[in-house]
Amino acid sequence: MSDTTTNTTIQFKLTKEQALAAFAHNKERATHFANLLWIVIGCALGFFLILQILFKIEAWIWSRTIRGSLDVYELTPNPRRRNNDDWSSMNNSIAPTHMWPHVPFWQRFIRAILAFYRKYFFSVNVPIINISLAELGLVMLYAGFMSAILVIDTPNIPPNPLVPHITVIGIANRAGLLAVASLPLNVLLSNRISLVSMLMGQSFDRIQYLHRWIGRVTLALAITHGTCKLIQMDTFGDHSFRRFGLGAFCIAGFLMVFSNRLMLQKAYETFIAFHMAAVISFICLIWFHMPRHKGYLIATIGLWVADRALRWIRIIFYNSLWRCGRSSCTETATLRLLSHDTTRLEVLKPDFAPWKAGAYAYVSTPGMPWWPQSHPFTIASRPSRMHISHAPESKKGGGELLRPQPNLIFLIRARNGWTRKLHKLAQNTVSPSIPVIIDGPYDGAPELHNCFDTVLLFAGGAGISWTLPLLIDLVEKARRNQSAVRRVIWVCALRHYVNYDWFFGELEQIVQMSGNAWIDVRIHYTTDTQDVANVPAFFRPGRPDIEFIIEEAVNAAKGRLFIGVSGPAGPSEEVRRCARIMTSPSAILRGDPRGDIYFHSEVFGW
Ligand SMILES: Cc1cc2nc3c(=O)[nH]c(=O)nc-3n(C[C@H](O)[C@H](O)[C@H](O)COP(=O)(O)OP(=O)(O)OC[C@H]3O[C@@H](n4cnc5c(N)ncnc54)[C@H](O)[C@@H]3O)c2cc1C
Repeated sequence: MSDTTTNTTIQFKLTKEQALAAFAHNKERATHFANLLWIVIGCALGFFLILQILFKIEAWIWSRTIRGSLDVYELTPNPRRRNNDDWSSMNNSIAPTHMWPHVPFWQRFIRAILAFYRKYFFSVNVPIINISLAELGLVMLYAGFMSAILVIDTPNIPPNPLVPHITVIGIANRAGLLAVASLPLNVLLSNRISLVSMLMGQSFDRIQYLHRWIGRVTLALAITHGTCKLIQMDTFGDHSFRRFGLGAFCIAGFLMVFSNRLMLQKAYETFIAFHMAAVISFICLIWFHMPRHKGYLIATIGLWVADRALRWIRIIFYNSLWRCGRSSCTETATLRLLSHDTTRLEVLKPDFAPWKAGAYAYVSTPGMPWWPQSHPFTIASRPSRMHISHAPESKKGGGELLRPQPNLIFLIRARNGWTRKLHKLAQNTVSPSIPVIIDGPYDGAPELHNCFDTVLLFAGGAGISWTLPLLIDLVEKARRNQSAVRRVIWVCALRHYVNYDWFFGELEQIVQMSGNAWIDVRIHYTTDTQDVANVPAFFRPGRPDIEFIIEEAVNAAKGRLFIGVSGPAGPSEEVRRCARIMTSPSAILRGDPRGDIYFHSEVFGW
């Protein structure tokens, strides 16, 4: 028996018993490796969880280190700025760069390793497949592991006249079982309320690359299984399970060819409809093709149903749909045109769940012909958490900034489908309004107030939605002395500014804020020329010089920097490039904090 298992191909002629034993061994090994797959997935998720906990502990120690040294690094406001002097003159008031003498070597070492990872893996985009080198590494690790457990210990059983029905190409059955065993993982990765995303500390949309690539590995396994079986069989016989298998094989091929970024970008809704139909058919066919392995299919269906059920409970609860009688009780949102391609949607939502800065929600519009669609948009209004936790202070007269704001604002750039229809509605209607259902909030930006010395935010067009709540959140925390951030720079590029006046008032207040955060707001406009005299002081004509701004911020920093960008692809890439160049692990090791840059890009798309 041991001979049969160690050789990849069984060379000698088998007796009937030997062939049956080899077949049983093949099956047992396949089950073993399918179980091993889930043990490894469990360990990987546990590893990510431990990493997250370690990062949190390190960040906590770090924030205490920074706070301990606040008196050393105190910045003074630059008096020349009040005279609307040039922004670069701020350099004058910044004390000479301090090193990190008080930061122990082990902490600098960890920071340097993380910076090295960010610079050479996380910030490097792989062309064509459009994922980072770090993400590609994770995908390769998974694909490599699956290939290994596919080929290890899989002897072929050659045609044998004594037992003709158990001719086996070694990897065929293993590939089939591994494909089915990995189905629950694929669904876990596609769930909006995602356990994986929680354990990995990454938002749902940021781990979508895993769903795409792990899905491809699953399909490749299913296709390998089908191809091997087609090669070794000359007839379906009277086995109906083989016909189901052939059906599943065809669907796997269809999914492999048509599940790509081009389809997603060109026809999102059609893609999703076909994708869902194909996956459901695939699972149904596998149900009859592999009845002994229904456990994996039940887990797959269970995870999918649980996600949908949770989402519906949230939708019903947060939209107060449970209060509805027969009449419609969805909230009505108001629309406002901001520019030739941007619409602002605002809805009053006093009962909505608390959300973090940078969170997003799915918007659908019941009553409209296109309503079954729901589209994700970042919440541009300030986090509700703020007005809830600080309500008492606002009563004491904490200022306009603390006015309760139970409304959700979305800035929506018109593309070609749903968003274009919404834009046209706003264009063609007097005081346009529309019933909406909101599914969310989901995720949010990383916590910045405790970990960074300088926060630099770049926004373009609808990218304001992501950066503005972050800015306000930081300002609020600084006002309350809850923040270790001592410099915030918010750079926004708009083609037209005339319709964005709804947040200028808030920005003007922010600029005048006192506290230990040094806030610098700059809005660059490229098209509008009228009323230039009346624009607020922080307006600048022309495009921002991204490289100069980053360089200046890095030179002036006294600790770690966060550089966030949200908006069009071109400027976002430029910010990524500059942030990458300025990241310096060796500087961190030497104790110079300026090389410690954390870059985050929020792109609205695939
Ligand atoms: C987490 C997240 C936050 C976002 N925040 C904003 C925001 O604040 N402001 C903003 O203007 N845009 C935002 N977007 C992008 C926005 O969701 C899409 O532009 C919008 O859904 C396009 O709808 P459409 O029918 O007009 O698109 P189409 O013209 O049909 O397609 C344009 C692009 O949008 C993608 N798309 C279409 N429908 C969806 C959908 N239901 N879900 C995801 N992508 C889709 C397509 O793949 C394509 O790449 C965000 C996207 C994500 C994933």
